Amino acid sequence: MKSYTPLITAALLSLGTTAQAQDKPLTEVADGVFHFFAMGYSSMVVIGDNGVLITDPSFTPRAELLKAELANVTDKPVTHVALSHEHFDHVGGTEIFEDAEIIMQENGIDVLKLSPLMPVPVVNATFDEISTIDLGGQTVELHHLAVADGVATTVARVTESNVVFSADLYMPQELSPHEFKEDTNFVGTSITLNTMVDWAPSYAINGHSSGNSVDALKENAEFLNALQTEVEDRFKTAFASGDPAAPWNLLFSISGEVEMQEYSDWKNYETAFPGYVRRMALSVLHGG
Ligand SMILES: [Zn+2]
Repeated sequence: MKSYTPLITAALLSLGTTAQAQDKPLTEVADGVFHFFAMGYSSMVVIGDNGVLITDPSFTPRAELLKAELANVTDKPVTHVALSHEHFDHVGGTEIFEDAEIIMQENGIDVLKLSPLMPVPVVNATFDEISTIDLGGQTVELHHLAVADGVATTVARVTESNVVFSADLYMPQELSPHEFKEDTNFVGTSITLNTMVDWAPSYAINGHSSGNSVDALKENAEFLNALQTEVEDRFKTAFASGDPAAPWNLLFSISGEVEMQEYSDWKNYETAFPGYVRRMALSVLHGG
């Protein structure tokens, strides 16, 4: 697995991850709830009376670091590893927590079977729409609200403190390179982000940024709402034209036609925004 780390690091450098201040890898953000940020990836850590749940170990050296950091704050075992989705850069390192239940939304299992190169975990617990995990004094809800980034998209919420966790659904005032978005359903992403906003979280852990990102969650929900409206309106006009080819022709031209200048100061807007328009158009017209 170590040989993959430079690849992941290079990918993250190209993402230009926006770092908010976080002095140490493991930071307590609510009673018994920690934000672990290391090697460009975030995990949520929830310590209950009976055990510990972590999200997305991501890859083996990072999982080893998380295990070492955890030993400084608890002697309870990691009993649950919850995976945010099936993408291979998020699911590695589970073997470090050998006695834990490895949990993933059921849609992702068929994708893991197709990995020709990257190490993938043995998942031993799946769920459909929601899984509720009682850790003793802490309750973690795993929600699959829609297919979004990947097909097994899962967001987590701690019932008691209303801390939420998601991965690969947004960045703070930044668009991701289109290579990372080519299997993203933006209608599903919008549904997921808007639902998380409705939860009014106390703290939002984001898959690739350190620090609280509740504001970024809200801004990105608004951004996708505006983008979906813009794209849908153009397709409605194309359908209304009476030319049956018009919507399909629009699919090929729309990425060069839509602009949302109010987001032009977001990082990567110039290079990535056309890809977001194309993905939203495909999500609306084609289903994926
Ligand atoms: Zn992903």
